Amino acid sequence: MLMQSALHVFLAGLIFHLTACSRKDDLVSKFVKTEYFTVEYRNLSAGRINHLANSVDAVYDSISSLLGVEANEGTSGISLAICENQEEYFEEAVKLGASFETAWYSCGITFSGLEAMLVYKQNGKLDDRVIAHEITHCVINSASKNGAIPLWLHEGIALYCEKFSGRKSEYVASLSKIREYQKSIRGGFIPFSELDDKYPHLPEDKLMMYFQSFSFVNYIIGTFGVNDFQKFISYFLYDDLTVQKACRSLFAKSLDELQGDWEKSLNGFY
Ligand SMILES: [Zn+2]
Repeated sequence: MLMQSALHVFLAGLIFHLTACSRKDDLVSKFVKTEYFTVEYRNLSAGRINHLANSVDAVYDSISSLLGVEANEGTSGISLAICENQEEYFEEAVKLGASFETAWYSCGITFSGLEAMLVYKQNGKLDDRVIAHEITHCVINSASKNGAIPLWLHEGIALYCEKFSGRKSEYVASLSKIREYQKSIRGGFIPFSELDDKYPHLPEDKLMMYFQSFSFVNYIIGTFGVNDFQKFISYFLYDDLTVQKACRSLFAKSLDELQGDWEKSLNGFY
């Protein structure tokens, strides 16, 4: 999940406010610094935090390399806070400016402009895919010089990059869910042109947006290759092109036509 925000003033003290509140060890925040990240956690085994500290920089580099963007200087400047549960996560997210309207289904959140992200343990377990997902949002946000990348593309890439955690995205199984949803509830796909800058209102459509976006990004990379995909992204990050202009200039198609090709490509799986 992505939170567009410019709440720089709220940064100080909020992410790290858990530091000093209890004598119990598991309630006191601990910090680990890596090349790119400062990871804040309270209750993780030594093995788990070592694994995490060893993997986050590699995940960051893999994502930067796929997107063809320069990695930032390694100053441990990105805050990655791991909340113990969903309740605590929502509390922290709201303090940083998130709204519950979009937070209910999220497993992690990245605050644009803050170089900060929050994730939480689900049923006591930390999912590395969620961390890779949020790191992707962070990489895209910091690479963005001029314009905004369309929301569906932002989320689709984040889902695609979950694989750099070493675990497959649960959205890999999206084709059957897409078919089920398309036939029984909505009767068709959501046009990507409606997903440029806002999440859909209905909860089912929000979920559908994620399935569609993952599948569409997978299709674009698989069909046109990584080089054209990087060029496509660069049109948004650096040139502030509209999605229609970017599609025309790279694929010689409108977004709707490209979506039509993607939908046809799914038919073979039905
Ligand atoms: Zn996301």
